[in-house]
Amino acid sequence: MKEVTNSNDNVINLCKQKNNYLPNTCPDMTIRPVILYPDPVLRKEAEFITRITKDIRQLARDMLDTMYDARGIGLAAPQVGVSKQMFTMDCGQAGGCAKIFINPVIIDSSEETEESQEGCLSFPQQYADIERPFYCTTKYRNLEGKLVKESFEGLEARCVQHEIDHLEGRLFIDHLHSFKRQILLHDLKKLLANQ
Ligand SMILES: [Zn+2]
Repeated sequence: MKEVTNSNDNVINLCKQKNNYLPNTCPDMTIRPVILYPDPVLRKEAEFITRITKDIRQLARDMLDTMYDARGIGLAAPQVGVSKQMFTMDCGQAGGCAKIFINPVIIDSSEETEESQEGCLSFPQQYADIERPFYCTTKYRNLEGKLVKESFEGLEARCVQHEIDHLEGRLFIDHLHSFKRQILLHDLKKLLANQ
């Protein structure tokens, strides 16, 4: 997910220079290309991760590098072309840090909702108001394989829901009415054609 502010040009640059978020992994920084809509990998249901191997740890590290480089606050593995159930998140909250979610599921969410502007690294420069539950609770495995149950609110809850949608092949545009979605996709097509 992409952080948005009132001005689209004023995207907050979050914690880009964190270098030691994953000790004991490969020290090389690797930025992978971000897959853009309408690549079919974004519509696939991602595979369950059965073992946390060296490759999975390297993927996590690369995804964090890629997410910070793209100034995102969340990135799902299908967005770098790997159809596996993992995403990274760093919403820059005080006292927070980068998090890796493996096989995440939402086990509870609030009836209280909030509408807020949302963007996605797979849809450059496109933003839309999306209504989502304000709180959610997830269960996931961290990179050490430990099962974690954690609750989120506000921007972090929004990001968690956005990224778990990705792992199910669902995209933020699916939450829009068809007219708004058509306008957004038209703008995206125009933008990509001019690049
Ligand atoms: Zn996204």
